[in-house]
Amino acid sequence: MENIYLPSEVQLRQWGEKLMHAILNTPRTQGVVIYLNGDLGAGKTCLSRAMIQSLGFQGRVKSPTYTLVEEYDLPEIFIYHFDLYRLADPEELAFMGIRDYFNANTLCLIEWSSQGQGFLPPADLVIDLQYVDDARSLAIRANTPMGNNILNQLR
Ligand code: ADP
Ligand code: MG
Repeated sequence: MENIYLPSEVQLRQWGEKLMHAILNTPRTQGVVIYLNGDLGAGKTCLSRAMIQSLGFQGRVKSPTYTLVEEYDLPEIFIYHFDLYRLADPEELAFMGIRDYFNANTLCLIEWSSQGQGFLPPADLVIDLQYVDDARSLAIRANTPMGNNILNQLR
């Protein structure tokens, strides 16, 4: 478990870039799953955007609030960015073919994972973002050996 204080969006973005590099530098036998927790506006999408853009993606990184998932087929890794806030019923994920999303050399960034309970694979890493006045704090913990290896790369 690590706690990081992020005074502004600049630091949040820099930390996201470091996390992306740590993921790419960790041997992966299966997809990486990251749950992003925190209130509206805490910075979940901002962090996802920084991670995706750190790989040179030039287009817009939209919030998947309405589409539920946005995909990024990048040279280094395939990224699925979920936002399950508007998911009415977790069973919808089964109809979306959710299992197909979690293959090797994929990264799943999942906002509002609690909405998909029972239909999501377990997280390798769980990130909690919190308001600290106008700044943010971030806590990250690993739930799997691969998650632990990524955390070690971050240090
Ligand atoms: P979420 O996806 O969690 O609902 P967003 O990422 O869409 O939140 O929005 C986060 C907001 O907080 C943005 O307006 C961003 O500029 C701001 N923000 C991000 N990181 C920080 C930070 N470390 N300190 C202060 N504001 C931040
Ligand atoms: Mg969001």
